[in-house]
Amino acid sequence: MKPLFVAFFTLVGICWGQDPYPKDYFTSPLDIPLILSGSFAELRANHFHSGLDIKTQQRQGLNVYASAEGFVNRIKISHGGYGKALYVTHPNGYTTVYAHLQKFSPRIEAYIKQHQYGQETFEIEVFPGAVELPVTKGELIAYSGNTGGSEGPHLHYEIRDNEERPLNPLLFGLDVKDTTKPQYKAVYAYPLSEDAHINKSDAVQKLRLIPLKNGDFQVEPISAYGKIGIGIVANDKQDLAYNQNGLFNIRSIFNGVTNFEINFSRFSFDETMHLNRYIDYGFYKTEKERIQKLFVEKGNNLSLIKEVVDAGVLTITDSTSSVYKVRIKDIHDNDSWLSLTIKGLKTSDIKKVEEFESDRYVTADQNTTLSDGNVTVFIPSGTFYDDFYADFKVKSDTLFFNEDVHPMLKSMSITYDVSHYAEADRNQLYIAELAGYYKRPYYTNTKLQGNKLIATTKYLGTYTIVQDAVPPSISPLNFSNNKWVSTLSELQLKIEDKESGISNYRATVNGKWILMEYDYKKKTLTYDFNDGITTDTENKLKVIVTDNVGNSSTFEATFFRK
Ligand SMILES: [Zn+2]
Repeated sequence: MKPLFVAFFTLVGICWGQDPYPKDYFTSPLDIPLILSGSFAELRANHFHSGLDIKTQQRQGLNVYASAEGFVNRIKISHGGYGKALYVTHPNGYTTVYAHLQKFSPRIEAYIKQHQYGQETFEIEVFPGAVELPVTKGELIAYSGNTGGSEGPHLHYEIRDNEERPLNPLLFGLDVKDTTKPQYKAVYAYPLSEDAHINKSDAVQKLRLIPLKNGDFQVEPISAYGKIGIGIVANDKQDLAYNQNGLFNIRSIFNGVTNFEINFSRFSFDETMHLNRYIDYGFYKTEKERIQKLFVEKGNNLSLIKEVVDAGVLTITDSTSSVYKVRIKDIHDNDSWLSLTIKGLKTSDIKKVEEFESDRYVTADQNTTLSDGNVTVFIPSGTFYDDFYADFKVKSDTLFFNEDVHPMLKSMSITYDVSHYAEADRNQLYIAELAGYYKRPYYTNTKLQGNKLIATTKYLGTYTIVQDAVPPSISPLNFSNNKWVSTLSELQLKIEDKESGISNYRATVNGKWILMEYDYKKKTLTYDFNDGITTDTENKLKVIVTDNVGNSSTFEATFFRK
């Protein structure tokens, strides 16, 4: 029987031919219906989302199963990011990733704890070999959680190819109910050439969307001249989720010819930051809405963009009539069209927008150094996509350097001369970005070198110097000094630093390092008594917590346990 079976499946494989994604290879990592709070390649802060966010019914601790046989080739635990994450490599070359986990299965948990105790660290990354942690298809490997940068219980699930490029897991046949059409929210027209104008203005224009009965949209006709581009705000909704997800495909057609297509099926991590070039970054920063530009600008090397004629740019000449159409699609082929008529009209009767100008300039493909007072900013060549006028000034230790409306590919460095501070105080200084509505100070990774304070950042904006003289606070949550804790399964402390933030911590019992898991969202440190470090009767706990400028606090307590 067996050879026949093999022949049969090979035949099926050949018949599918064009589809490179095996449909039965990977099973769902959860045993609940798949409802997504995040879709593949949806637009996130500075990146495309690299997997699916699967809802876990507002709970943690759901069983997570290996999607196929293979072996655990990577375990990574970090305070932020993916939190507790597991990577399983499969014989077909793909890797599945399971992130924000609460904990691992007992076998994997024991393996990683051995390494954590060996290296005396909670944050860890290990790469087991093929023989250490083999898994079978459908094996329980972990429990879902909310660790790392996760903002609510869910499983982040990825499929990567053998070059570490994430692919849309829904291409592999995972079932998500979706009969709902994707939706347009807004349409914008961008003048791109010097002489371009739209509706007699040289500013970006928001166009009026007119919904049609069949779910498609018409756009109020425009007049235009020169080189222009179109941007859309659009997203998809799945049947069982109230939230909005990303699209699978966008295609634009200019006078019958496809001139731009983006397909959200696979990308690589080294291009994901070009999201900031693909969207209108400045608009997003000011209006909190992501416009997807259906034209390609300098430096946007996204491999997601498939077919481009004239970089998606429309050339409109006088006294012409053109038709521009957009089709957005989800992965289940639900689609929605948009159609726009453009009348070519050359006119000199144009409303012009005043652009900010100054005598200082940032040239994208050159190193730039700007300074004022005691602050110097160095911008390496290739940091920005475009040149722009610098709005740069320093007033009593506060640096104003434009608004955060130009996306950056690299970091710039900000150097403060702090020789006007007493030498004893300099150790407690850090550079903070004043951000958000209330212009609150946020710690920026800062180093002190002599009388210079240096920070690197990927954001334009307002920066200042802050002194942090207050060490972190440490307080017990579920125990008190000199008391018995025999019934507890874990020991919990609260740690907090209101200024520069917590940098590191170290906890011991009777002089032996203990693994305390740090949850920065709950501000807790947790020790699991199953780790077996404590001794019968008296135990001496010592916890040292250090903030980002080096202030540290020590907490000591004695507890009894039998
Ligand atoms: Zn995710």
